Amino acid sequence: MHRHLNDLGLATQPSHAQVLQRLAELAGLRPAGDTVRDLRYRALFCGWAFEDAKAQLSYADAGLARARAARNGEAEASFHYCRASALETLAPTEEVMAAYEAGIAIARRIGNDRLLADGFSLRGSRHSLLQDQARAIRDLLEAQRLYREGGFTSDSEALLLDIAISYRRMGDLDKASDYLRQNEAYARAIGDYHQLFSNLLQQGYLAEDRGEVDAALDFYRTVLGMANERASEYDAASVHLAMAWPYILRKEYRRALRIIDAARTQFAALGDHANDDMIALRSGQAHAGLGEHARAMAEYNKAAVALENSGNRRYQALLYRARADSEQALGRDAAAAADLERYIEATESLASAERSQRAELLRYQFEDNHARMENERLASEQALRERQLQALLQARRWQWTAMALAGILLLLLGGLVVRQLTRMRRLREMAATDPLTGVANRRSIEQHGDEAIARARASGLPLCALALDVDHFKTINDNHGHPCGDQVLARIAVACRDALRHFDLLGRTGGEEFLVLLPDTRLERALSIAERLRSTVEALDFSDIADGLATTISIGVVELRAGDAGLQELVGRADSALYRAKGNGRNRVEVDRA
Ligand code: GH3
Ligand code: MG
Ligand code: MG
Repeated sequence: MHRHLNDLGLATQPSHAQVLQRLAELAGLRPAGDTVRDLRYRALFCGWAFEDAKAQLSYADAGLARARAARNGEAEASFHYCRASALETLAPTEEVMAAYEAGIAIARRIGNDRLLADGFSLRGSRHSLLQDQARAIRDLLEAQRLYREGGFTSDSEALLLDIAISYRRMGDLDKASDYLRQNEAYARAIGDYHQLFSNLLQQGYLAEDRGEVDAALDFYRTVLGMANERASEYDAASVHLAMAWPYILRKEYRRALRIIDAARTQFAALGDHANDDMIALRSGQAHAGLGEHARAMAEYNKAAVALENSGNRRYQALLYRARADSEQALGRDAAAAADLERYIEATESLASAERSQRAELLRYQFEDNHARMENERLASEQALRERQLQALLQARRWQWTAMALAGILLLLLGGLVVRQLTRMRRLREMAATDPLTGVANRRSIEQHGDEAIARARASGLPLCALALDVDHFKTINDNHGHPCGDQVLARIAVACRDALRHFDLLGRTGGEEFLVLLPDTRLERALSIAERLRSTVEALDFSDIADGLATTISIGVVELRAGDAGLQELVGRADSALYRAKGNGRNRVEVDRA
């Protein structure tokens, strides 16, 4: 029921008695102690029940206090609107607008779009009545948008009519016509008499504004038919009054007077005097048309008094223009000239007001567009920044991934390099080592020999060489087999190496032949070293290889001389000494004495 009452409004016009009755029913339905519903009811009551503005204002003030105490924003906003409508007849415009503004601010704060739209709609209608059409249209369009987006179709569609009226009052007839046609289609679709009536009446005024007299009359006849069918006195009176002007324009003055009389009678019967100014003006114009200028002047003077109260500039301008004609006809040229001047002044100020309101409206629309574009730009910049940030984070992730991969790659490469170096060292060692005995091979010992000779010559230090050969080795192979011979060779090599100093060099130069280089060693010392080697080998125990296995070596000792051409000559002399050792019975050391 609350919703039903709340949705009354622009669409339907119930009688005051009907509303009061429904409100009383609603009051009885309030659950006890339900503050929210109670405030809702009171807000509705405030808006609908009062005909006396002062009573309405004090009810609204009380309601506002209750709503504040209950911290109920919805009710608070509603009571502000109610206050504003009470203030409309009691207070200056600024106070009325401040009350609307307070309600609008609360509706906006609590995010209630319907209430917000109500505020804009009410304030817009107020602006329209005050001839501030630019502000009116701005508010009404905003309300219409909010109603539409909130799905409040009937409110949104009904507002099209108010917007059209504002545009017409501002002189923008094309826009007014657009909105009226849209609203007409809606009003027809839902079969709403009041809306359709107001709409078609407005279309009649619009046709009149455009100078389309016949079209205007067609609209008026249609709405008159509607009003009569409904038996709506007030509506019929309004149409009668509207029809006067087209008849006057068509010079059907008597018909115009009849219809004006009908309107006057009907309004009087309803106790309505709001249209007295217009009735007098039209009546005067009709009489003037009939050449009855004195009658006309009497009507004009009535109209002037009524217009003094309403302050309607447009009607005043019409009056000055009409009165000037009659004054001229009556020979009152000075008065006619003064009225024409007033007429010109009034029309110019009206035109300039229309122009400035159109400019104002354009400025509002530009600002709204600007604000919307600004918001859109901010939103798109925000989105762009977000995308850039995401791209940056993505790039950073890829950077980390690439760095991690590069690290792994480096580790792998490092591992490979280390492995390769180790392998190369092992290969080099293998290339320089005799695989059977583990001592330097021929190529390696000869290379070391060349270097040792060069160093000895450079430093002037002595260098000795020993040529070793295993005695009767062939017999070992023959008696114990070649593998035993290999083991014997290996063991001799190891024993000799262990018996030498760390800087002495040992290499295998042939099958069972070895060469020893003794740097920084004189012949005598070399002899004793040779003797140590010989006795070491002689003492070796091979019993684990073969029973009764034993062996000896013969050694030729030589010292480097200045005359030696190189290693070959040195070894050659050592071999000669070795040959002599063999000849002298083996297992002995001989020195090259040559
Ligand atoms: P001498 O006392 O006069 O030196 O007599 P020898 O038997 O040691 O001398 P000869 O030069 O006649 O024999 C050397 C033997 O050494 C011949 C060969 O079969 C043997 N031999 C050479 N290289 C190897 C080897 O790597 N392993 C084994 N088991 N025997 C080898
Ligand atoms: Mg030999
Ligand atoms: Mg031998």
